[in-house]
Amino acid sequence: MKNKELVLPIKTKSLCPSCGAVIDAVMEERGGAVLIRKSCSEHGDFELPAHDDAGFYLECLSSRSQVPQEFLECDISGCLGCGRHKEQIKTIMIDVTERCNLNCPACFTNTHSMEKRDPTIVEIRERLAEWKTRPTVLVCGGEPTLREDLPELIREITSLGFVVKIASNGIKLCDRDYVRKLKDAGLGWVLLQFDGFSDEIYRLTRGREMKAVKDRTIENLSEAGIKICLAFMAVKGINDSEFGRLIDFMMDNDHIMHIGCTVLADVGRDDMGLEYSTTALDVLRAMERETGGKIAIDDFMRTRNIGDRLYKLTGNRDFQVKTCFHTMLLHKRPGGYLPVNRYFSPGGAMRNLGGLLRLALLYGSLRRWDAISTTGKVKLITVEEFRHHDTVDLVDANRCNKAYMTENGYIPPCIYNTKYRPSCWLPADAAEK
Ligand SMILES: [Zn+2]
Ligand SMILES: [Zn+2]
Repeated sequence: MKNKELVLPIKTKSLCPSCGAVIDAVMEERGGAVLIRKSCSEHGDFELPAHDDAGFYLECLSSRSQVPQEFLECDISGCLGCGRHKEQIKTIMIDVTERCNLNCPACFTNTHSMEKRDPTIVEIRERLAEWKTRPTVLVCGGEPTLREDLPELIREITSLGFVVKIASNGIKLCDRDYVRKLKDAGLGWVLLQFDGFSDEIYRLTRGREMKAVKDRTIENLSEAGIKICLAFMAVKGINDSEFGRLIDFMMDNDHIMHIGCTVLADVGRDDMGLEYSTTALDVLRAMERETGGKIAIDDFMRTRNIGDRLYKLTGNRDFQVKTCFHTMLLHKRPGGYLPVNRYFSPGGAMRNLGGLLRLALLYGSLRRWDAISTTGKVKLITVEEFRHHDTVDLVDANRCNKAYMTENGYIPPCIYNTKYRPSCWLPADAAEK
């Protein structure tokens, strides 16, 4: 169901690649690809490739959910303190430290590059206590386990009624007693960074061997009853042949509930080089190829439509369909799995209201993380792209249902990563400079 209004060119806002100012921009089609055109009064005109495949880009744009107009009124030049993004949040992300015990060649947060302080438990608690709703809290960084007070922080956040997930590389989680401690503090979920099944892959993506670390961590988390999302960074030609094995690995492990795939793109620190960069569409193609069609691009596209219908029906922002985010559910069956959308004939979900509502409950409980034990046979795959500083569509980024907590309000991830990350949680003396 294409939205006829959506044809290129589209007006938006982006950043000047030179000074970082918010400037007007236009997304245009050229030769089947999409480029972004913009000009800065100081630094002149820019024309940069934004998306490889105009058809896929338009399909993603036209199937994204419409969000209330008031969410879109921010002009992005003054997001620190603008307060407009809080209403739409389903996941609150908190960078609890800039420190890391790895120095990965590619890191979208570019750790070790900035002088930053860790927000205190009191600061985090004060901000969370203001919430009337209870979005999921994703504790990230840096490497959150480098904070000595992480168990205490988790305990404080869960005591306010939030579900907490941490994003970790797993190095500290090789310690079984430490994992127990986190579980006792209330930790329900770990997003474990996981790039594949061999040390050759990790030497390239993480600068060291990590296979044994991942094995041990998965064992410890499983034993403690902590749910696992494998946070997989797709790297062209390096691990994009692992998807068949990766998906089987999830379906065969009772504690791995979600594969959250991001793509290596030129965001933050990227010393790996452009030849390894990939796109969400490349990942969807690789999944179709590597699973022999057991998962197809079309499954993701149909799930977009189902998600948007559920969003319209329930108003629940868990279902919101975004341009940059592809999702699907897999049902575990004897001898394999089946994408959940295939239980519905094309367009059938709309006619079958009962079926749609059952799916809403299932999908909702999976996305709500906390109710996961009721849906152990259904697992989630997501594929997400981060927008690059030079080509970011800020108006689209503004629709996001996630946001980073800062000392001055909440900012959607792609806006934070491209514009505001360097100016948040600065040490007092650095902030005065
Ligand atoms: Zn400029
Ligand atoms: Zn704003």
